[in-house]
Amino acid sequence: MQRNVELVVDARVQLGEGPVWHARKQLLYWVDIHGAALHVHDPSGEPDTVYPVGCRIGAAVPRASGGMVLATENGFEAFDFETGSKTVLADPESHLPDNRFNDGKCDVRGRFWAGTMSMVKEKEAGSFYVLEPDGSTRRLFGGVTTSNGLGWSPDGRTMYYIDTPTMQVAAFDFDEERGNLSNRRIVVTFPDGVGRPDGMTVDAEGMLWIAHWEGARVSRWNPADGSLLATVPVPADRVTCPAFGGSDLDVLYITTARFGVDEETLARQPHAGSLFALRPGVCGLPSHEFAG
Ligand code: CA
Repeated sequence: MQRNVELVVDARVQLGEGPVWHARKQLLYWVDIHGAALHVHDPSGEPDTVYPVGCRIGAAVPRASGGMVLATENGFEAFDFETGSKTVLADPESHLPDNRFNDGKCDVRGRFWAGTMSMVKEKEAGSFYVLEPDGSTRRLFGGVTTSNGLGWSPDGRTMYYIDTPTMQVAAFDFDEERGNLSNRRIVVTFPDGVGRPDGMTVDAEGMLWIAHWEGARVSRWNPADGSLLATVPVPADRVTCPAFGGSDLDVLYITTARFGVDEETLARQPHAGSLFALRPGVCGLPSHEFAG
């Protein structure tokens, strides 16, 4: 394993999040939640492109019919790169103005799964939703405080899920045909002193890669026995989300944040908020577009 995390884009944004590799275009999308922006990184060497989206954006996924689908403080919204315009597709929490969408990801059938959280730190006020390709939404469960990382096992039969304050990774049996979750159990528990679990991705060997918010690292875990397999330091306290990308899916991209970090720490971590990458010696799984 290459143990050195490299700086990829010295963006220094407030709250970098949600990296997703778009294989069809060989681009990495990521977001700045508090900066209300969608970032597009082209590893071929083109400068990064930043699209203002005008609201807090928790996640963005490419859409098979073109453009992106965003999970934002206004619900699920379609985004058009040409015009920069947004169109609300569904707003399942229109009755909860203090909530916003946070992390999200598409499954192999092109459904968009994403959860919410309170912007005023109300506990267990969030829920976990799915946006179907036909534009309908379903609420899978509530009682979530900070809906965060998710991912699927290589065989697609298990979904992993993080509600950050629980300090745990939950697993569900995943019914790919119907898009249902069942048999919730805990597969990983974070110890004290390493920060809190944030974003997550699954590698081709079925192991979980988790970003440590206020833990300055990413870690690799075996969900079969809950054991910690590897830890890689990242030069930012607030590490937010990992995602595999690159033409061979062998690059682990890592987003970070700088908001809320004190000046003394930022002096030691000047690139906090930037996009980093690691070649961990294992490949990731393909990511999927929204099918609608
Ligand atoms: Ca997150």
